[in-house]
Amino acid sequence: MRQEEIEQALKNKEIKVYLQPQVDLHTEKIVGAESLVRWEKDSAIIPPNEFIPFCEQTGYITQIDHYVLETVCSFIQKWKKKIPIAVNESRRHLYNPHHIEDLQRTVEKYEVEAKYIELEMTETAVVHDIKMAKEAERRVHALGFKVAMDDFGTGYSSFSMLREIQIDILKIDKSFVDEVTQDRRGKIIIEAIIQMAKRLEMITIAEGIETKEQAQYLKTIGCDIAQGYYYAFPIPIEKFERRYLA
Ligand code: C2E
Ligand code: CA
Ligand code: CA
Repeated sequence: MRQEEIEQALKNKEIKVYLQPQVDLHTEKIVGAESLVRWEKDSAIIPPNEFIPFCEQTGYITQIDHYVLETVCSFIQKWKKKIPIAVNESRRHLYNPHHIEDLQRTVEKYEVEAKYIELEMTETAVVHDIKMAKEAERRVHALGFKVAMDDFGTGYSSFSMLREIQIDILKIDKSFVDEVTQDRRGKIIIEAIIQMAKRLEMITIAEGIETKEQAQYLKTIGCDIAQGYYYAFPIPIEKFERRYLA
């Protein structure tokens, strides 16, 4: 992949924002969505795993994430019944002093209350420099944004991070959900995570729900929200709006 290709893609607006619904396990209503990018190149769709790592290395991720937030805010602004939307925060941003000002400027520009934006951070971003991450969390909370921890449980320091950083939403990684209906040990672990999250007053979202059995089980153990192909695939933001918010 070459830098010029990404530059062209951004300029030609080939990078598109998709949204995947998040469903309340108890009411089965859509209570939010996560924004995920796709690169619509010629007539193919390139998934983020094929260009996000390159963009993180080269710094283009900053432009992509800014573009995603702008797009999301411009949509939220016109929704009568607003729902919160999650945006992925690359670890690059935590080290960019202008980033938080940029977040603030963008929500103000579209007159969107910051509480409708959930900033998803990953553990790898945070452990890299815990002091910086703590400071970033404190500042975004002061502005009213919500903070979610993405891919919870996949790294080495998930728990110590929870002690350090104030998190509103815990996203339990798909790898825990995959085997949850068969694996006794896996069940014990996920149940304990959900109990802990409740006591810490965090909302729990289970990622990668693919079957009815998984959904039912997660509901019985008190998980709040589910996101996965069982409910819906990520779809272009315009389509999401027509389908769910019209
Ligand atoms: P992620 O943040 O963990 O996003 C969840 C991924 O799981 C998405 O993959 C989503 O499409 C996929 N997924 C959702 N439900 C299911 C399911 O039931 N089964 C399976 N097998 N997968 C499911 P996607 O869209 O390919 O994104 C991959 C990763 O790329 C994301 O992982 C995120 O780390 C990154 N990414 C995507 N969009 C952005 C963005 O705008 N900015 C940044 N910085 N990273 C992004
Ligand atoms: Ca995410
Ligand atoms: Ca995730």
